[in-house]
Amino acid sequence: MQTIGHFIGGKHVEGTSGRFADVFNPATGEVQAKVALATDAELDTAVANAAAAQPAWAATNPQRRARVMMKFVELLNRDMDKLAEALSREHGKTLPDAKGDVIRGLEVAEFCIGAPHLLKGDYTEGAGPGIDMYSMRQPLGVVAGITPFNFPAMIPMWKFCPAIACGNAFILKPSERDPSVPIMLAELMIEAGLPAGLLNVVNGDKGAVDAILDHEVIQAVGFVGSTPIAQYVYSRATANGKRAQCFGGAKNHMIIMPDADMDQAADALIGAGYGAAGERCMAVSVAVPVGDATADALVAKLAPKIEALKVGPYTAGDDVDFGPLVTKEALTRVKGLVDQGVKEGADLVVDGRGFSMQGYEDGFFMGGCLFDKVTKDMDIYKTEIFGPVLSVVRAQTYEEALGLAMDHEYGNGTAIYTRDGDTARDFAARVNIGMVGINVPIPVPLAYHTFGGWKKSGFGDLNQHGPDGFKFYTRTKTVTARWPSGIKEGAEFSIPTMK
Ligand code: NAD
Repeated sequence: MQTIGHFIGGKHVEGTSGRFADVFNPATGEVQAKVALATDAELDTAVANAAAAQPAWAATNPQRRARVMMKFVELLNRDMDKLAEALSREHGKTLPDAKGDVIRGLEVAEFCIGAPHLLKGDYTEGAGPGIDMYSMRQPLGVVAGITPFNFPAMIPMWKFCPAIACGNAFILKPSERDPSVPIMLAELMIEAGLPAGLLNVVNGDKGAVDAILDHEVIQAVGFVGSTPIAQYVYSRATANGKRAQCFGGAKNHMIIMPDADMDQAADALIGAGYGAAGERCMAVSVAVPVGDATADALVAKLAPKIEALKVGPYTAGDDVDFGPLVTKEALTRVKGLVDQGVKEGADLVVDGRGFSMQGYEDGFFMGGCLFDKVTKDMDIYKTEIFGPVLSVVRAQTYEEALGLAMDHEYGNGTAIYTRDGDTARDFAARVNIGMVGINVPIPVPLAYHTFGGWKKSGFGDLNQHGPDGFKFYTRTKTVTARWPSGIKEGAEFSIPTMK
């Protein structure tokens, strides 16, 4: 049995705790590796390595730091197939989707090549007589990222690329369910020229997370995962004086107006609802058609498409639409929520619970499910299902549809399908959700914009990647400077103002 340890000080190190978590192949249900769960002492070693390496890195000019990112991008492209295969093997998503996972991280590395420009400060010449004022952005020191299972390449890169480009050292605590790709990324960073100690991967569970949150050397924590854990990490990290940004779960609504292109809307819902088996924080899990005629037409288009979805292992190639869920517990939980929806009285139009695949009977597969006539009071509406299950909630008016999205506790992403620019504009202006699509189902912003949800989908300030990533991983220092010039004003006892 393969064991996966940690990556500390530029080297693989074995775990010493004697505690391990199972890493499954979700397509076969087999345990394919054991990942070590770190002790506090192992985290201490990683932090000590990071703290020792960071000052020299911060003093390295930003252009040379950016060149490491440049080389890293090249190596990611070189190893794309290998990374995607390792990712699919532990996560279960299809190979094209796994490549997308790597590429969405790579795009953030590309953005970070602009570090010299992004780190330029502000300067005011002549802020007072003979006085110049300038501000600079300096790295925080040692910072950490705690990431979820569903994007094991993209989200670690969203965190460590900007942090390292800014001159910090980084401790990554990836998901214990798919730990191989994060370690491969750390190896590539070393190959790209990053000095040892600046990117450490410490595997673990709650114990390692708590050790990070309490460690006095770690200055900032970037978290992505489920909402209860995001809220917990935010509270504990900030109570310990750390900077924190913690992104949580989602229940993304897509509103379909009667004037929408119904074929386009149905295709969008299939891709955004069922891609990656619904295990995406930007998956559309609620469709809100406006008017019964729109709802009837939409459900009639969706049902045969969902029944025709091809579910299978990533090894089956491009012919597969989505793969298994990540673990047996996830499968049992999602099927249990479908049972619950039936009990609550929602209309289960397509039932994928019975799906089984010859040769892969122990894999964590299920087929796509479609609920119609879901209502606000049902648990399946309130809960993030995180599986291949789409709920149709019928609204009679645009205002009612908008109200549904606005009243939901999550506020990650949303979309509207319409041909009416005025309605789309009104929706984008009023909705209290962080990322909005107009005839675009998964509005994940590109690397040079920023990613972040509102309400219970995000805790703390500043979004991920883009200019906000650079702000989060740096702090501002402002210098007011005057050089002796022969002007002698004597002591000043009142606060200086720009008279
Ligand atoms: P999770 O909350 O179970 O785990 C996330 C991280 O927290 C992992 O590293 C895990 O080891 C750690 N963790 C788990 N339980 C913990 C505990 N009790 N105490 C301390 N740490 C703990 O999330 P997941 O199942 O890996 O990922 C899926 C969730 O992530 C979904 O809710 C999804 O919506 C969300 N997500 C959000 C975004 C976003 O940007 N908003 C992006 C991707 C995923």
